[in-house]
Amino acid sequence: MAEQKTTAVQQARAKAQAGERLTKEDALALYEDNDLLFLAKCARAAKERASGRNVYYTVNRHINLTNICSSNCPLCAFQVEQGDKRGYVMEHDDIAKVLEQAKHTCHLSEIHIVSALHPDKPFNYYVDVVKQVREALPKADVKAFTPVEVVNFSKTTGKPIREVLEILQKAGLDSLPGGGAEILSDRVRQIICPKKATTAEWLETMRTAHELGIRTNCSMMYGHIETIEERVDHLLLLRELQDETHGFQAFMLFPFHPAHTKLGDEYHLQRVGSWEDMKMLALSRLVLDNVAHFKAFWVMLTLPIAQLALGFGADDLDGTIGEEKIIHAAGARTNTGITRTTLKKIIRETGYTPVERDTFYQAIVDDEEVQA
Ligand code: SF4
Repeated sequence: MAEQKTTAVQQARAKAQAGERLTKEDALALYEDNDLLFLAKCARAAKERASGRNVYYTVNRHINLTNICSSNCPLCAFQVEQGDKRGYVMEHDDIAKVLEQAKHTCHLSEIHIVSALHPDKPFNYYVDVVKQVREALPKADVKAFTPVEVVNFSKTTGKPIREVLEILQKAGLDSLPGGGAEILSDRVRQIICPKKATTAEWLETMRTAHELGIRTNCSMMYGHIETIEERVDHLLLLRELQDETHGFQAFMLFPFHPAHTKLGDEYHLQRVGSWEDMKMLALSRLVLDNVAHFKAFWVMLTLPIAQLALGFGADDLDGTIGEEKIIHAAGARTNTGITRTTLKKIIRETGYTPVERDTFYQAIVDDEEVQA
């Protein structure tokens, strides 16, 4: 038995080193093997095959329209129920103020909008938000609404997912963020987010978006009640869809922040450590061999760990953000925004080349005279 295990690990290591496609068994063997520096070396080679010496960042602004949510997911620290005095909704005047500020941000290339599932706000409100952003910032990419939000629009309007996406696309939507995937296992989803889009709905929304030419990201939230096998199955589902559509631009890992969540309290969860973060990043880079870009989301990881992640297969530090509310509600102690100068500095320290990008990974000509 021990001999069989050794052979499985040896085979998996040889495939990882050669850049060959890994099976589920290979991924599990590499996870068990727990050789972090080996995984880092292979993941760095995979990163360099995909994006050379470049490490990307973007100047973006996050907008979280509301925290009032009908879904009440046990994993969530952001949502409140209607009537709660902590609840807020951004009306069009509030959004106009943020957009006015954004207009004066040098190099701003993307507005990123994700929100809770408000019980009363009609679909037209969200369509109008997209139009409002498009009008105020015609050159910025509008990245908005996770598949969970899109499925909710479909349910509240009675329109098929394709029609919902077509309406949003016509209003000016460019791409979808990759959130809400959590772990694509209905066993897990029943516990951590029972009212949210199912595995099949999440995948179907992404497939439809890709068919319509809407590029998207994808993600995984790990470190709660899922098994390692469920993490690997999740990666394989994403890889399978990517083989079919080629519509995912980037993958992002979210370690679960248990503070202020029902799930964290009920299961006495603690946030996983940096070893696990780096191991999952490197392993994901190796398994998801058909996704070009891997983000190290500094808001989740902290800036020093996000910088370290560039040695474990990540090639993107995401953006300046402006103001982030969702992850900070779960206890993230990072800043809510950062300058491009800082992002460039920490990339340079790794020996890689900072490249400012738009949503679609097109390089934006860098003007060193521009001060952040
Ligand atoms: S995770 Fe999203 S859908 Fe679930 S309660 Fe929080 S905001 Fe609502």
